[in-house]
Amino acid sequence: MKRILYPAFVFVLAAGVGGCSLFGSWGGPRRAAWRSQAESQCLSSGAVVPSDTVRPMDEVDGPGACGADRPFKVSTIGKGPNKVGLNEATAMNCPMVAAADNWFERVVQPAAEAFFGQPVVGVEHMGTYSCRRIAGSRYMSEHSYMNALDVSGFKLADGRTVRVKTGWRSADASEANFLRQVGGSSCDDFTTVLGPASGAAHQDHLHLDLARHSQGRHVCRGGDEPVPEGGRLLSFFKDDSIFPEDKIRTGSIPGGIGEGEDEPMGDPEYPQGD
Ligand SMILES: [Zn+2]
Repeated sequence: MKRILYPAFVFVLAAGVGGCSLFGSWGGPRRAAWRSQAESQCLSSGAVVPSDTVRPMDEVDGPGACGADRPFKVSTIGKGPNKVGLNEATAMNCPMVAAADNWFERVVQPAAEAFFGQPVVGVEHMGTYSCRRIAGSRYMSEHSYMNALDVSGFKLADGRTVRVKTGWRSADASEANFLRQVGGSSCDDFTTVLGPASGAAHQDHLHLDLARHSQGRHVCRGGDEPVPEGGRLLSFFKDDSIFPEDKIRTGSIPGGIGEGEDEPMGDPEYPQGD
């Protein structure tokens, strides 16, 4: 990810290598510098231990600024012997793997024990990596950088699956409370949490990501639905102050995805999608 181009050298590379991924690295749009730094810090911290179910991948570079330096292909969530399977293996960057593992142990399993008296034995998701904009926005989604996870359901030990789509407003208070507890407590592990009450795009999943919002803020938005009896009011439902009317836009990506522009600075908006 060199910032300075040496035209002669690039020409030699382009002519000799024939436009392979190296060319994209040198001449294409760049991911924000903090992303590489966050990955490096995470990798050197030992927070993610490679295994058969957490396998290091090669760099994914592009299209455009999309990708990650040293992502993992992950088929489990959680730590050591306590990890459980995902419905499908998926790619995440190191900080997301670490955050998801912490979240599962700190938030999901205690909530499952509290509301169902049994552990979660599997997690269903709707994807992590997708090189695209936030729906209804000019900003790239954190999914573009393997820095996001859409969780749609939790399989319990007795075989039942609690799904966001059906459980959030379920007549079964234990399901609604469990999902609110999980959603509400997620904002300590992730910097963006969007749930069913945040808009039409999140009726069937919790969007969790590690975006860097200005001033270190966390965007936790589930809406202001009444919490079912017995449920706890958590930060998930409180912080709408970060969506001021006079929000200043500080960047954009005009044109098609990755057509020559670096990732913009500033907070993305989440009008509908993620
Ligand atoms: Zn998402």
